[in-house]
Amino acid sequence: MTDTGTLPTATTTTSTRRLRTGQLRTGIAADRDSGSVMSADELAGDLHGVAERRLRRVDQRYTSGRRAIVELLVSARHPVSISDIAEHLPDLPRSSAYRHLTDLQAAGLIRRVAASDEFTRFELAEDLTEHHHHLLCVNCGKVTDVTPPAGFEHQVAGAVSDLAAAQGFQPQSHRLDILGLCADCHER
Ligand SMILES: [Zn+2]
Ligand SMILES: [Zn+2]
Repeated sequence: MTDTGTLPTATTTTSTRRLRTGQLRTGIAADRDSGSVMSADELAGDLHGVAERRLRRVDQRYTSGRRAIVELLVSARHPVSISDIAEHLPDLPRSSAYRHLTDLQAAGLIRRVAASDEFTRFELAEDLTEHHHHLLCVNCGKVTDVTPPAGFEHQVAGAVSDLAAAQGFQPQSHRLDILGLCADCHER
């Protein structure tokens, strides 16, 4: 990969984003690059264990409603909106869904992805999946996950550490979401 100046290649919404198995075993962001593969059941079991522990740390329980949302995020493999949740979990009242999302976020299990408040979506926290970026359409709200090539990440990490070092700051990670118009929206 020598053409590090190009924008990352988009993956589809059914991308092969995998759960970060090494960390799921322990629930600690330790072995970032161990990429061993686990079965779906093993993955889910570990993820639910992590979810339970992280919620307990903030004095919350891993209720069936919260578990249903986590399972939806695992199977969707891309950021989901409140309407997606309502569609897939019709028995879960919207007010409960909002509360669960707030609590799951406070526990560090999910994160909010949005171009604006109008288009809020949620996905599993990055330490449970893998590092990636988003292309956010400001017109229709479409979110595309992008996993940049290693060269891109290397350049970003270098720029980030220069920027942070100038302030005596120790960077640990970065978030980079690109706002703009998706292919459907800019053609019109
Ligand atoms: Zn769009
Ligand atoms: Zn990155």
